[in-house]
Amino acid sequence: MKSDILIIGGGLAGLTTAILLQKNGYQVRLIEKKKYPFHRVCGEYISNEVLPFLKSLDIGIDALATSHITRLAVTSVSGKILNANLDLGGFGISRYTLDNLLFKQAEKLGVEFIFDKVNNIQFNENCFSISTSSSKVYESAIAIATYGKRSNLDQKLNRSFFYKRSPYLGVKYHIKTDFPSNLIRLDNFEGGYCGLSKIEEDKYCLCYLSETSNLKKFSSIPEMEEQLLYKNPYLYDVFKNSEFLFEKPVVINEISFERKTLIEDHLIFCGDAAGMITPLCGNGMAIAIHSAKILAESIIHFAKKDSRLNRQALEQDYASKWEKQFSLRLKSGRLIQNLFGNTLISNLAISSLNKLPALTQALVKKTHGEVLA
Ligand SMILES: Cc1cc2nc3c(=O)[nH]c(=O)nc-3n(C[C@H](O)[C@H](O)[C@H](O)COP(=O)(O)OP(=O)(O)OC[C@H]3O[C@@H](n4cnc5c(N)ncnc54)[C@H](O)[C@@H]3O)c2cc1C
Repeated sequence: MKSDILIIGGGLAGLTTAILLQKNGYQVRLIEKKKYPFHRVCGEYISNEVLPFLKSLDIGIDALATSHITRLAVTSVSGKILNANLDLGGFGISRYTLDNLLFKQAEKLGVEFIFDKVNNIQFNENCFSISTSSSKVYESAIAIATYGKRSNLDQKLNRSFFYKRSPYLGVKYHIKTDFPSNLIRLDNFEGGYCGLSKIEEDKYCLCYLSETSNLKKFSSIPEMEEQLLYKNPYLYDVFKNSEFLFEKPVVINEISFERKTLIEDHLIFCGDAAGMITPLCGNGMAIAIHSAKILAESIIHFAKKDSRLNRQALEQDYASKWEKQFSLRLKSGRLIQNLFGNTLISNLAISSLNKLPALTQALVKKTHGEVLA
């Protein structure tokens, strides 16, 4: 069962790479462990840097990207507020909808989808063998790992970040609430921060990142919310005055922002699997899509259909373009993250940044890229 390209994980990075390569004549197989559509933990604010590119994929994004988010507010634990403009801005769309649109488009183009969990990846004699939970083995010349921030496979591949601390958990709700449709607000609480912004229809995404130790202090997520998040008056107001649309929140843990490797034994990593920006900077989705485009272009150039695959040139080209585009943004994200999630530091940061609007705009800009066409 051999294909030209095998992609492991069908989030934004995997689906985008699949669409671009299938369109260019490659036979792409994508293995995803869950069935679409499904909810994921994500703040669901997507930077406009990828809007023209998403339009070019012909997935019907226009009808859904209707919220125009142009303003950012950040509140400190005690309720101080900082306001800034988002020069480039963004829009809100649920991952339930966006990933499903990309999946349908990929399927229409002929990408072969396998719904199974990948358990092992091996590279021998210029060929990948990828085995799954249902004991199937798939082979390909090129294999791409787009399985997200952390997976069983990171341990199998012995990636060093896996053994470092992963001290965060993420929680997401969809809610109906009274909130400006052009605003994204980030509310700090002790050991974390929570984002709120509009998505499609009349719904809002409420999503937070918290130190895992917070949950250990309390018996449950609702208790942690009451004891910690409610201390920020803005968060108290949202939790008390909104209609919560899920019975239970979507939750993930073991989130880490450590540096990762881009290529291991010729397996190419892309999206969060290659490196994750802190959600505070709100641009992981754009980076996943942008890095998929860079990778697809390197493959199209160095692994042309019907000619010899220049694996070394392909890997070097992708790695150098990735570093140039993203390594500074990820570093800035880690730096900015240190300013938040602590009562004293967040108060201080917000008071200082309120007096320095130019610095605020520069910080916001550092986490955004150029528009991707
Ligand atoms: C709390 C939080 C809030 C965030 N908020 C935002 C935001 O507002 N805006 C923004 O732009 N970004 C945000 N992000 C980041 C964004 O969600 C990610 O950067 C983005 O989802 C990365 O896409 P991806 O395709 O790399 O990975 P994913 O979307 O995680 O996709 C990976 C896929 O791989 C599959 N998979 C995993 N292991 C296997 C396996 N062994 N076999 C088969 N399939 C497998 C998974 O099921 C999944 O579908 C946030 C992240 C967090 C944690």
